[in-house]
Amino acid sequence: MTPSIHEISRGLADIRKMRRIFLFILFSFLPILALIMAYIERSKNWLPILLPSFLFILGMFIQNRLHKMKCPKCNAFFFVQTVSKDNYTPSSSISFPPQKKCQNCGLTLYH
Ligand SMILES: [Zn+2]
Repeated sequence: MTPSIHEISRGLADIRKMRRIFLFILFSFLPILALIMAYIERSKNWLPILLPSFLFILGMFIQNRLHKMKCPKCNAFFFVQTVSKDNYTPSSSISFPPQKKCQNCGLTLYH
C-alpha cells in the first residue's frame, strides 16, 4: 500500500520541523558558547556554563530523534543511508548536516 500525498506531506512537515530545530541548535551553539565564555571571563561566575551544556545535550537528543525519523514514502530512515559495499564512504550511514532528501528513495523535503 502506497501512502497518500496527504500522508507524505504531513510526514515531511514533521521531518522539516525537527530538522529546523536541530539546525537552529547547531548554529546557535557556538555563538552562545562564545558569549557565555566572555561573561564567565568577566564575572568569574561559572554557573552560566550550564546553558551551553544543556544546549549540547539537547542537540544530541534532537539529532538522535532526527536520525530515527522514517521517510513517509518509502518508510526507510530518512537521514540514514543503507550502507552497502558500493555506496560506502567514511561519512555515510548518517548524514551530517541533515540532507534535504531521503537517503533511500530521494524524496525531497522542499519542493
Ligand atoms: Zn524515502
